[in-house]
Amino acid sequence: MSNPLLETQTLPAFSRIGPEHVEPALDAQLTACRALIERLTREVAVPTWENFIEPLEESEDRLGRVWSPVSHLNSVLNSEALRTAYNACLPKLSDYGTEVGQNEALFRAYRAVATQEHLDADQRRVLDNALRDFHLSGVDLPAEKKARYKEISQSLSALTSKFAENVLDATNAWELHLEDESRLAGLPESAHALLRQNAEQRELPGWLLTLHMPSYLPVMTYADDRELRAECYRAFATRASDQGPHAGEWDNSEIMEQILALRHEQAQLLGFANYAERSLATKMARTPEEVIGFLGDLAERSLPQAQRELDELTAFAREHHGVDQLEPWDVGYYAEKLRQHRYQISDEELRPYFPLSRVLDGLFGVAERLFGVRFQEVEAFDTYHPDVRFFEIRDAEHGALRGQFYLDPFARAHKRGGAWMDTCSDRMHSATRDQIPVAYLVCNFAPPVGARPALLTHDEVETLFHEFGHGLHHLLTKVDYPAVAGINGVPWDAVELPSQFLENWCWERESLDLFARHWETDEPLPETLYQRMRAAKHFQSAMQMVRQLEFALFDFRIHLEYDPARGGRIQEILQSVRDQVAVIHPPAFHRFAHGFSHIFAGGYAAGYYSYKWAEVLSADAFSLFEERGVFDPATGRAFREHILERGGAEDAMTLFVRFRGREPDTEALLRQSGIAA
Ligand SMILES: [Zn+2]
Repeated sequence: MSNPLLETQTLPAFSRIGPEHVEPALDAQLTACRALIERLTREVAVPTWENFIEPLEESEDRLGRVWSPVSHLNSVLNSEALRTAYNACLPKLSDYGTEVGQNEALFRAYRAVATQEHLDADQRRVLDNALRDFHLSGVDLPAEKKARYKEISQSLSALTSKFAENVLDATNAWELHLEDESRLAGLPESAHALLRQNAEQRELPGWLLTLHMPSYLPVMTYADDRELRAECYRAFATRASDQGPHAGEWDNSEIMEQILALRHEQAQLLGFANYAERSLATKMARTPEEVIGFLGDLAERSLPQAQRELDELTAFAREHHGVDQLEPWDVGYYAEKLRQHRYQISDEELRPYFPLSRVLDGLFGVAERLFGVRFQEVEAFDTYHPDVRFFEIRDAEHGALRGQFYLDPFARAHKRGGAWMDTCSDRMHSATRDQIPVAYLVCNFAPPVGARPALLTHDEVETLFHEFGHGLHHLLTKVDYPAVAGINGVPWDAVELPSQFLENWCWERESLDLFARHWETDEPLPETLYQRMRAAKHFQSAMQMVRQLEFALFDFRIHLEYDPARGGRIQEILQSVRDQVAVIHPPAFHRFAHGFSHIFAGGYAAGYYSYKWAEVLSADAFSLFEERGVFDPATGRAFREHILERGGAEDAMTLFVRFRGREPDTEALLRQSGIAA
C-alpha cells in the first residue's frame, strides 16, 4: 500500500493523507530511524560529520516531515479518526525522544565528532547543542544517579499532570446559576448569549456563570453587580487550593512543594546549584543574577507610573461612580469604564479599515521594503481546504527561492482556536540535498460574509504580523543544518524577538498608510482614530508591566531560592515579590500560585521572565528603526542578515549585539510602552 506520508517530495500530499496513513507511516519512519542509529553506532568506527551526523540529521528530518502534516491536520482539520491516530502516536514519539536522549553510544559518537577539527562554526553549534541536551537528559551520569534522574523525571511528569488536572477540575467544579437577569446588567450581548447557552446546555433556565475565561472575563470586566464580581473573583482566585468555596478539594499545595523539591534535586544531579540555573542552560539570559537584575530594574522604573495609574483609576471610580474603596474585583471593571471614557475605542470602528486582502498586501509590502524579498501567490498546490493559500518568498534581487508557506486564515469547525506559525520543513543543504524551508501560518479570522470581505480587528492585524514574524525567522534562514536552521535551536527567551518586532509595523502611520483603508470608501485610516488607537495602546501599561513582573519574579525566585531544609516557601516568596513590585495587593485568601499552570504544569518553570526578556529585545531592535526611519533599508537588511538568516546557529546575545551594536537595553521597551521612567 502506498502511503502519502512516506513520499519524499518536500510538500505534503494533503489531499491524499487519511487517518489510516498516520500510524503506519510513523511506525515505518521510527523503525527506519532506530535501524539507522543502531547501524551507525555499531558499524562506524570513526564517526565524522559526513558519515554519522549527516545521515542522522537526514533521518530526523524525514521523521519531522512525516509528522508535521499530521500534527498540522490534527489542529486545523480535526476528526475523531485523525485524533485517535494522532494520540496513538504521541507516546511513540516521546518514547523515541527519550530513547535517543539516553543513548550512550550515540552520545559518545557526538562527543568524538565534536573534537574533530575540520568542522564549520554552524556544525559546531549543532554538536554543542546536542551534547548539551544529552547532558541535560542525564546520559553521562553514573548508573545510580541516572536511575534516580529517571525516577524524578517520571514523578515530575505525573505531578505536573496532576497539577493541571486539579486546576481543571476545580475550574469545572464551580458554577453559578442565575435566574434574575438584573444581576447581569452591564454585560455585552455576546457574553449574555454565552451564559445563556451555558445554561441551555445543562437544560437550565436563565444563565450559567463558570470560571472558564469566556465566561469569567466578561463578568469581571463588565458586570455592574459588585457582589457578583466579588463572588466570581473569590472562586477563581482560590481554585485548587486550601481556600475558597472548594477549599481542600483539589488542593495543589503539596504537589507544588513536591514539584519544587524534585526539580531542585534533579538540577543538582546534573551539577547545577538550583533549577533556575538549569533553566538558563538553554536560554539567552546567562545568569540568575542577570534575570533578577533585569526584572528588578524594569519594576523599579515602572512602579511610580503604575502607582499613578492606580491612583487615577481610584480617583475615577470615586468621582464618576462614587466608589470609596477600590477592591481587587473592581479593578478590571473600572479600568474598562475609564478606558471607554477616555478613548471610546471599539474593534468595530476599526474593522472596516482592515480588509484581509489589503492587510496581506501591506504585510508583504512591509517585508519587501525591510528585507529585500518579494512574495508571490501560487495558485496550483495540493491542499486540505479551499480557504488555504500558498505563497513563495524570493530574493528581490536574484529571484532565488527562499521559502514557501501556507496561509490558513479563517475560523471554521474542527479547527483549533488561536493563531500560530508551525514548521512544515526545515532548510537543509548538503552535498546530496537542497531543501527549502516551508511554514504554516494559521489564524482564526472571521470569514467573509456575503459581499463583505473578511475584515480584521486591529488586534488581529497585530496577530498576523506577529505570526508572520515567526514565519520570516523560519523561512529566511541561510543555515544549512536543520537542527539550528530557522527557529530551530533558538533559545526560548529569544524566539519571540522577530515576531514581536514585526508587530511594530502595524502601529506606525507610515506603514499603516500602505494598507489601512476603508473597504467601501477607500478612505485612509482617519488621523483622529489613529491617535485614539495609539493612546489606548498605552492604557495602564505600567500596571500591566508590574503584574507580569510579579509573576516572572515569583516564578524565578521560588526556583532559585529553593532550600530543601526550608521547603518551597511559596506564599512567603510571593508576598516578598509583591512587596517589591505590586501596586494591587490581593486579599489574604488569594492563592495565585495554585493555578499558575505555566510554571507548574507547562514549560515555563524559571522561564516566565522570557516574555519580558523578548519584549525588551524586540523593542530595543525596533528603536534602531525609530532612530533611522521605520523603512530604513540598511537597518532592515541588517536585521535580516544578523537575526533572521542566522536563527539558532549562533549565541542569541552575539547575534543581537551584532545587529544592535550593543547589549539590549530596557529603555526602549519602557518608552514604547508609554512608561516615562
Ligand atoms: Zn509568538
